Amino acid sequence: MTAEGRIGLLLPSWAKREALRSGSSVQLKAAQNEPPPLQKVREADVQALKLRGEQVATCIFCDNELTEGTKPEHILLNALGGRKTTRRVDCSMCNGKFGSTIDNEVGKQVAVLRNMLQLDSGTGGEPTMLRKIQSGGDVINLMNDGTPELVAKPFSIRKLENGGFELLITTKSVEEIEPYVPHIAAQLRCTEEQVFQILKSTTGSYVERRPETVHHALGFGGPIAVRSAAKSALVLWATLTGSDEVKLPQYDDVRRFITDGDEAFNLTRAHLDSRYLPEATELVRRFGKFFNLIYVRSNESGRVVAHFTLYNVISWHIVLAETGGTPNARIALVSNPLEPAEWSDTIADEVEIDFAWLDSPDYTDELKRARERLEGALRHHVETQRERELSRIIDAVFTKRGIVGEHELFKDPRLWQEIIAEIGHRFALHALGLPYVETVSGEEIAARLRAVRDKGA
Ligand SMILES: [Zn+2]
Repeated sequence: MTAEGRIGLLLPSWAKREALRSGSSVQLKAAQNEPPPLQKVREADVQALKLRGEQVATCIFCDNELTEGTKPEHILLNALGGRKTTRRVDCSMCNGKFGSTIDNEVGKQVAVLRNMLQLDSGTGGEPTMLRKIQSGGDVINLMNDGTPELVAKPFSIRKLENGGFELLITTKSVEEIEPYVPHIAAQLRCTEEQVFQILKSTTGSYVERRPETVHHALGFGGPIAVRSAAKSALVLWATLTGSDEVKLPQYDDVRRFITDGDEAFNLTRAHLDSRYLPEATELVRRFGKFFNLIYVRSNESGRVVAHFTLYNVISWHIVLAETGGTPNARIALVSNPLEPAEWSDTIADEVEIDFAWLDSPDYTDELKRARERLEGALRHHVETQRERELSRIIDAVFTKRGIVGEHELFKDPRLWQEIIAEIGHRFALHALGLPYVETVSGEEIAARLRAVRDKGA
């Protein structure tokens, strides 16, 4: 390459081109002796590249372009009540893949706790229903709102030796028998009218009872869930330091761990931590007793460690970079799963957690401390469940008397007394774990089923 060509390339200003065109060797020499412009242009080039790089941001995991249409990534998982999202770190494809794999694993692990504590997702989704749970001799479903429901066949028919039969119906209410009437008729080879006659001659009983103790196995962690925690922490860190930083080689290991899993990484760079956070009291005061916290901090040599606390019960320590990350920086995200609108991504400015503390995980107590905190969560469940049950019983007693929604003040003191007595009675039985039984006559069953039919017709 000639000197002329080189200079022409590096100095693309009109003035210099004019000079080149004149072909004067002196001018060329002069131009060659100008190292500062060369340096400047290099810087300009780099800056231009950087600008372009920011306009066309790419995914930190696969280099896919990030656009305005990129799906927002929940930094703290939506399932954990996370609301803060970013479109600037990973692409929709990776987001979707994580959602159905590593994030899904965390979602499954916290499903029981979410149902028990009634924790909505970040976007307001209800907890998932827990199906087919053994409760003493029964199998129950725990509905989205935590209400237990018996899993039973709606009806069964047993032939008796004397040629007769026994019809057993199990539904939540008398009204719910109605859709089964044609099926019962078909099995008994009779008309629907005959089914009504049979029902009329029986007595039904409405039984309400508290489910037996349910044993849930709660397990948090494992390599798949830790990958999800590492992803949350790395994405949070990228929002502070920029995506380019976490694409550097010093983050290769953690990125590979997140995308593909890596047993060696899991053993050496991710650790359980059951210590109480030094600032737990302050965090509980502001974000409730089950706060979720992601705290990422680096020291002066750029060692970057993440501390991920799940429901203030158990934590993970994950080394995002051994060295060479942005030094002396910190960012944290905290959120209240009981009230997902209460969260903060500036908490690291207000609550400082020492790097040395973050970087010395410990669970030598064999998770005794974590168990203590989990028991606290269960107590909270029992307390809130009792309140919910009380209001459910009150609703049921009112509804039975046709009192729904807004109503007139009670003018009849006897009705009021009756209501209070029934609520007290039912709640006492519930508290003692005894069933509440209410008999329904066959006549009433038939009449209520006909009422359902008339409404439908
Ligand atoms: Zn991607």
